[in-house]
Amino acid sequence: MTVWTWPDGLTLADAARWDVSGEIPATVRHAMSKQGLMCAEVPSEYGGLGLSSVQNGELNASVGAVCSSVRSLATSTGIAAATVLRFGSAPQRDAYLSPLTSGVTAAVAFSEAGAGSDLSNLRTTVRRAGDTVEVTGEKVWVTGAAYAGWIVVLGRYEGGGAFVMVPADAPGVRIERVGHPLGCRAAGHSTVRLDGVRLPASHLLGGAGFPISFLATSALTYGRISVAWGCVGIIRACLSASVRHARSRIVGSQPLAEHQLIQAHLAELLTAERLATLACEQASRQCDDRRPEHVMSAVFAKYTASTRAAQASSTAVQVLASAGAADGGAVARAYRDAKVMEIIEGSSEVSQLLLAGQALELWA
Ligand SMILES: Cc1cc2nc3c(=O)[nH]c(=O)nc-3n(C[C@H](O)[C@H](O)[C@H](O)COP(=O)(O)OP(=O)(O)OC[C@H]3O[C@@H](n4cnc5c(N)ncnc54)[C@H](O)[C@@H]3O)c2cc1C
Repeated sequence: MTVWTWPDGLTLADAARWDVSGEIPATVRHAMSKQGLMCAEVPSEYGGLGLSSVQNGELNASVGAVCSSVRSLATSTGIAAATVLRFGSAPQRDAYLSPLTSGVTAAVAFSEAGAGSDLSNLRTTVRRAGDTVEVTGEKVWVTGAAYAGWIVVLGRYEGGGAFVMVPADAPGVRIERVGHPLGCRAAGHSTVRLDGVRLPASHLLGGAGFPISFLATSALTYGRISVAWGCVGIIRACLSASVRHARSRIVGSQPLAEHQLIQAHLAELLTAERLATLACEQASRQCDDRRPEHVMSAVFAKYTASTRAAQASSTAVQVLASAGAADGGAVARAYRDAKVMEIIEGSSEVSQLLLAGQALELWA
């Protein structure tokens, strides 16, 4: 079985440079898209790699271990592709999926200033008039919008919600970068303004009018699994950096690795890696087997992996101390990137609410 990984030749030093500059070079984005790595579960008939969720998960972990900005871009493009696969008609799949495996990346715009955790407060509207749809609203923190060819916009539509495929260069679309984000600094987070964006009705995906919560959960489930595997990558990077440093750094005439308090840190890092990986494998296997439990397992995996990644990256900075504190460095990046993983695709608190609901239902 082929194991797909972070592209050869790109290193931690490259990722450090992109983190500091805030930009992933176009050559890298295009090359990865053309290799199908940005949405690797897309079937081969659309030029994709047709990976399973488990295989794509290990790919996400491999990419996430080097650069969470690139992994974030792949998560956004993957959510867009999964949404088109689920809700798109045959002509829509032909129109939107092939570009995503031949150089184009996509963004997913749900959040608004007044609607983050609670998407029932969405204000963006999608109106159909004959053969056209018009989209009006303002989306915030849209990962990858600065690089995207397509933006999947979720808006209100006839008492429910709807996904619209909005070309990033359509008249009425304005994209403005978020300045100096805390984490995933090169992921192209942007505010997206949609001023009466008029498009052919063929840009409206199926499922228009379904409840917003149903549409959002469908897209977020792919995103949660993808982010969770990315967090596994962050934890692995922290474990590896901590072990290498603990073996080589001499403090008090012996390597750090021989100090028992440092060994406790290494044990915690190893435990985090195992727990997060097991949670992700469970969600991905259930997803591959089309079992309905995968929706809640995705919440569990994302919660487990993101909270463990946040703890692990803090521990790794502690083990490396000043050697881990430089801007762009692997564990310093992990520390900032892991924190934002606790916010996106359903924050830790939103995940806790969902998990508590499951506890109350299953453990009465
Ligand atoms: C780096 C980054 C990338 C992002 N990428 C995207 C993207 O690509 N597309 C997109 O649409 N959005 C994106 N977002 C937005 C993200 O989805 C929201 O930030 C997230 O949903 C939280 O919403 P909020 O920031 O408005 O916080 P709020 O909803 O205001 O929540 C504030 C705090 O209250 C907690 N909280 C909320 N509700 C409850 C409750 N009922 N009980 C207890 N606590 C609660 C939250 O967990 C949080 O800690 C991104 C955000 C960041 C930071």
